[in-house]
Amino acid sequence: MSKTILIAGFQHETNTFAPSRAGFDNFLHGEGHPPLTRGEPILAFRDVNLPIGGFIQAAEAMGYTLRPVIWAGASPSAHVTRDAYERITSEIIEAAKVGGFDAIYLDLHGAMVAEHVDDGEGELLHRLRTVLGPDLPIVTSLDSHANVTRRMLDNASGLVAYRTYPHVDMAETGARCARLLERLLSGPKPLTKVDRRLPFLIPINGMCTMLEPAKGMYARLASLENERVFSLSFAPGFPAADFPECGAVIWGYGEDSGAILDAVETLYEKMLRDEALWQVPFLEPDEAVQEAMRLATGASRPVVIADTQDNPGAGADANTMGMLRALLRNDAKGAALGLIFDPAAAAAAHEAGVGATVRLKLGGQSGVPGDSPFEGAFEVLALSDGRCHYDGPMMHGIDVEMGASACLGIGGPDGIKIAVASRKAQMWERNLYRMVGIQPEAMRILVNKSSVHFRADFQPIAEAVLVAKSPGPMIADPADLPWKRLTPGVRLKPMGEAFVAK
Ligand SMILES: [Zn+2]
Repeated sequence: MSKTILIAGFQHETNTFAPSRAGFDNFLHGEGHPPLTRGEPILAFRDVNLPIGGFIQAAEAMGYTLRPVIWAGASPSAHVTRDAYERITSEIIEAAKVGGFDAIYLDLHGAMVAEHVDDGEGELLHRLRTVLGPDLPIVTSLDSHANVTRRMLDNASGLVAYRTYPHVDMAETGARCARLLERLLSGPKPLTKVDRRLPFLIPINGMCTMLEPAKGMYARLASLENERVFSLSFAPGFPAADFPECGAVIWGYGEDSGAILDAVETLYEKMLRDEALWQVPFLEPDEAVQEAMRLATGASRPVVIADTQDNPGAGADANTMGMLRALLRNDAKGAALGLIFDPAAAAAAHEAGVGATVRLKLGGQSGVPGDSPFEGAFEVLALSDGRCHYDGPMMHGIDVEMGASACLGIGGPDGIKIAVASRKAQMWERNLYRMVGIQPEAMRILVNKSSVHFRADFQPIAEAVLVAKSPGPMIADPADLPWKRLTPGVRLKPMGEAFVAK
């Protein structure tokens, strides 16, 4: 008889310094992820680039019977509310209590902090262990932005992280989990686990695997896997969660404890040697716009500026106005900016209609020092119901609902086009511009509220990519954050100063 695997997913990346929390409603809508899904319909994710999609496809091919429970994800933000955490995890725990399965696969992020729990994933895994005992295999896929904890490592039988950022290998990571689970269910002997925690935080802009040093690090990692070193992972972490285990971890599972120890040590030593290479240069808003205008002169493709500190993919609200002001101050032409999360502005545009001029106080609601709403007259250039189908390399196949959306124009006919939506999503898909009638390839400058993920879909059309540090809630340089609870001695950025508890 075929073995049965319980499968579930609960994804949240928590920036404990961010302005708004994630409640149950945020998970219900999904916010750029699929909406909350229960039971059999989860199996339809098999064709989607999500970890659970790749897992379903691989596990079905291996002949396993899958028992789907729940899948829920929300846009990164501050803490998950106690209510949302307990409601979603209790559905998983209750399903586990029913029994009658041989293993569990979980599609988790790895950087979830709830109002009442520092380590959301570790706590869930621990609760499952309490129900299931020490032996039942539990394998979990993780985002490479996971802050991997002792509790996660000790309670999961296997943790497997993405190897790309932009995360184009989400489904592939799910498939890796299926192979690890098969090994655990049928292998001749248990696997040995080894892990090492790095002594410095890494800015997320420095983690892009299309560039060095991350590219080389993952190439080295892949080259060290073999039949004795079954699975290696490196999660550079999410350096905006203020708790003692925030940071980068390398770990792996192998049949031969010497070989797995050697492989993890090799990667750890490489990271220590390469520390200086992981530093990131950031531009001020005016510098970024002026440099973009210079590069765009005579270019046939747009220059993309990452407005990284307002990246909703890292917990920001996607409504700071610093880059819009910099574009106008420098009289930039042919620029587009998105995706601004401002339901009131979108509603006003819908009320006024295409062609109308609306006076608005746009964005600026996060209350970040140095930012405020932008008051001005905007022309309503296009309206949309906010339905968007993703077909970029990272998120293809997913349908999202951004609510009432609009394209607002300012600065004359060849001025600035602003994509505004009623829900939050990172600008990681050209289709989010097209949704409101902006053709990204036809623009001279694109300002994307994203840190790195946009590169998957935008790098192929970009003349150049710049990273700007405009005032925003997602501090790009971890050394700029007001840490309180980190482990003393951890360096706040590569080659940076060590954290001292005050
Ligand atoms: Zn991530």
